[in-house]
Amino acid sequence: MKSVKQLSKLKGKTVLVRVDFNVTVSAGKVVDDFKMQAALPTIQYLRRQGARVILVSHFGRPLGKDNKFSLRPIARHLSQLLQTKVEFTVDYKKVSDSKAQLILLENIRFDKREQAGSKALAKELADLADVYVNEAFAVSHRKDTSVYYLPNYLPSYAGLRLLQEVHELSTWHKPSPGSVAVLGGAKISTKLKLVKVLAKKMDYVLLGGGLANNYLQAIDLPIGQSLVEPGMKTAVRKDLGANILGPIDVVVQTDKGKRVIKPAADVQKTDKIYDIGPISIDIYKDIIKQAKQVLWNGPMGLFEIKGFQSGTYEIAMAVANSKRSLAGGGETVTAINNLQLASYYTFISTGGGAMLKYLEVGSLPALAKL
Ligand code: ADP
Ligand code: MG
Repeated sequence: MKSVKQLSKLKGKTVLVRVDFNVTVSAGKVVDDFKMQAALPTIQYLRRQGARVILVSHFGRPLGKDNKFSLRPIARHLSQLLQTKVEFTVDYKKVSDSKAQLILLENIRFDKREQAGSKALAKELADLADVYVNEAFAVSHRKDTSVYYLPNYLPSYAGLRLLQEVHELSTWHKPSPGSVAVLGGAKISTKLKLVKVLAKKMDYVLLGGGLANNYLQAIDLPIGQSLVEPGMKTAVRKDLGANILGPIDVVVQTDKGKRVIKPAADVQKTDKIYDIGPISIDIYKDIIKQAKQVLWNGPMGLFEIKGFQSGTYEIAMAVANSKRSLAGGGETVTAINNLQLASYYTFISTGGGAMLKYLEVGSLPALAKL
């Protein structure tokens, strides 16, 4: 990949940077700017080289134009972070008339063509600039127009954070012995394949969250009303290796709304499994402690609710204590930040789905264009 550092003396040139400013906004304020912070060095570098910078991002999953998903509050926050004026542009076709040196375009997903993979939109965006930079690692597993088709029409470079992500994650694609993966969360269908792939490369794969429910079901244990990916029982059973571990005890919510810790074998028809139990936590912690490096994605339970936090938070602390650690995923990073543990991790990826895809395949479609 060509680095943005290969670009210099950009006075009079316009650089379009695809960033990922899909951050957490609450009551019109950015409450978690991790992904914005990650893109700042690239933006600052380009500006120091004299470039006029146009930033393109998506935010949320709008179905067409919807002010709830406007990037306006994010433009305000960026202006504060950079201590400079950021022009916010709703109609990107007007950008060519603007003299502003730093511009953020409105949510690119307001244009339906962004996710449809449109050459026409790619050309329209390419017309706005002389150079393209991808600083949106977290979107680079998708074939969206602004990451996959746009680089066909402009000289294209990789942003500094994106390069760092790839550098770091490539060391995990073929991990050394002594590696352990902890996987959980709710997006079961996107992660099941990775369980199988990682089990071949890592000493252990430890399961929690919805993934663990699929595991328990595959070994014929009852899961009651728990979150599960339906129709996967046989597939999971076939893939189960001896180094894939699920919880032997769980925390459930009963139909009466009571929180009960019990062996996984004792889950009732009306129970919902919302966390891994204390014995499982201890077993996982022992394995993590002995590992040389640990990769973590996906909460162990419904950690947003008080009675079901232990699994996720104990694992978050155990992984933080590991000699080398990698974490990624929206809610995973939220859990780490809730405990203020981010600085204890070796690397926290800006990507969830993109990180998992990279770990699985060792490359991403949009990266091949750089
Ligand atoms: P990430 O964003 O870190 O990749 P996911 O998006 O896959 O993780 O899943 C995160 C969500 O999974 C969290 O909001 C959490 O509450 C939920 N979750 C974890 N375990 C369970 C469970 N047993 N039942 C229901 N939801 C769960
Ligand atoms: Mg998530």
